[in-house]
Amino acid sequence: MNSDVWNIVRSNLQETIGRDAFQNWIDPLVFEGCKGGVVRLSAPTSFIGNWVSQHYGERIRTIMCEAGTDVHRLTFGVAGMKTGNAASKEARTKAAPEPSQAEADLPSSPLDSRFRFDSFVVGKPNELAHAAARRVSESGEVTFNPLFLYGGVGLGKTHLMHAIAWEIRETRPEARVLYLSAEQFMYRFVQALRFKDMHGFKELFRSVDVLMVDDVQFIAGKDSTQDEFFHTFNALIDQNKQIVISADRAPGEISGLEERIKSRLQWGLVVDLHPTDYELRLGILLSKLETQRSLNPGIQIDEGVLEFLAHRISSNVRVLEGALTRLFAFASLVGREIDLDMTQECLADILRASERKVTIEEIIRKVADHYNLRMTDMLSPRRARSVARPRQVAMFLSKTLTSKSLPEIGRRFGGRDHTTVIHAVRKVEELRVTDSQINEDVELLRRMLEA
Ligand code: ADP
Ligand code: MG
Repeated sequence: MNSDVWNIVRSNLQETIGRDAFQNWIDPLVFEGCKGGVVRLSAPTSFIGNWVSQHYGERIRTIMCEAGTDVHRLTFGVAGMKTGNAASKEARTKAAPEPSQAEADLPSSPLDSRFRFDSFVVGKPNELAHAAARRVSESGEVTFNPLFLYGGVGLGKTHLMHAIAWEIRETRPEARVLYLSAEQFMYRFVQALRFKDMHGFKELFRSVDVLMVDDVQFIAGKDSTQDEFFHTFNALIDQNKQIVISADRAPGEISGLEERIKSRLQWGLVVDLHPTDYELRLGILLSKLETQRSLNPGIQIDEGVLEFLAHRISSNVRVLEGALTRLFAFASLVGREIDLDMTQECLADILRASERKVTIEEIIRKVADHYNLRMTDMLSPRRARSVARPRQVAMFLSKTLTSKSLPEIGRRFGGRDHTTVIHAVRKVEELRVTDSQINEDVELLRRMLEA
C-alpha cells in the first residue's frame, strides 16, 4: 500500500464524516508508510492520534481494505518524534510558538455559501425553527437566549445556523459572530490546555457578540469541556450576548450532559425541526431542481420523478439532495433523460436503504378492502373491470412503494408476467391524469399504506 490509498481514505472521510471532523482530525495526519500490514500514521499531537485511533481507526482500516490492501493494524506516532528525539521537538515548539488564540482572528468555521435563508424551504415541520432563526438574525436586540434548535440528522439545523451567521454578517458587519461545531469547541479547548493558553481561550470566547455552537450533543460525557462550555455560556448570557445552539435532540434528552447545563439551555427558546412531510420534501426538490437545471442545462426530467423521490426518500434532506445530484450527474454522463426507470436503477442503493416496510401482501390487502373485494379476487385470473382495475392499482402501488422487481411483482399477483405489471403501471399513470376518482383512490391508499 502507498500514499494513493491514503488519499482514497482522505477523500472518503472528507465526504462521510463532515468537514469539521475532517479538518480537526484527519487533515493533520501524515501517512508515513506501511510494512507487513501495519500502517504508520503520524499526528501533530498524541491526543489527536489517540482520538483518531479510537473514533475512526476501524473505519480507516475498512476503507484501506476495501481499496484492496490487507491492512490489519494502524499505529499512530507524533509528527517529528519518529526518531525519538523529543528534545529537538521541544526546541522547535519553543522557537515558533502557536499564536495566542486571542491574537488570531475569530476562528469561525467557514460558512457554506449555499446555506442562506433564501435557499431554505419553509414548510409546516420547520416553520417555527425558521421564524426563530430569522428573529435572532434580524433584531439587534436579544429576545430569547439561548435559541436552542434541535432535530434529527439532515433536517436543516446547520443550514439555519449558517443562515443566521450570514445574515448578521451582512446586516451588522461590526458584530463579532463566532460559529463552530461543539467538536471544534472541544478541540480549541484542548489545544488551549496543551499550549497553556486558557487565558487567550477565555478571552476569545467571551469577546464575541454572537456565539453559535452546532451539534452540542457532542460534548455530552466530556466533563472538562462541558465545564468550560458552561462558564463561557454563562459569561455571555450575563453580558446579554446572543447564543444559538443546536443538537440532535432536546436538552433534557441528552444523556451525559450535566443537569445545570440542561436547565440553562432551556432558559431561552427551545424549538424543534420536525421530520419532513411530503409537501416540504417536494418543495425542497423543486428548489434544488432549479439549481441542477442551471448547472446542467438541457437535461430532461420526467414529471413523476420528483414526486417519486419525495414519497420514497423520507428520512433526511441530505439524502434527498444527494439523490437529485446523482441523477443529474448520471444523466449528463450517459446522455439520458431522467425518467422513473433510470431513477430506480441509478438510486437502487438509496431507495433500498430508505425503503418503507410496505409489503406487497399489505398492498393487496388494503386495495382489496378499499374496493370491497377478496384477496383471492386480486390474485385470480378474472379480467372483469371491477376486479382488473383494483388489481392494476395494487400493481402500480407495489411498483412505486416497494423496490420489488417487475417479475417479482408479477409472481405475487397470481403468477403473472412482468409485461402485465408494466401495462398496469402505465395504465394507472394514464388514468390518474384523466380520471380523478382513480387518482383520489391511489392517493388515499398510498397515504394509508405509508402511515
Ligand atoms: P442538520 O444540520 O440538521 O443535520 P443540514 O442543515 O446539514 O442538517 O441539512 C442537510 C442538507 O439538507 C443541507 O444541504 C441543507 O441545505 C438541506 N436542507 C435541509 N432542510 C432544508 C430546507 N428546509 N430547505 C432547503 N434545504 C434544506
Ligand atoms: Mg448539522
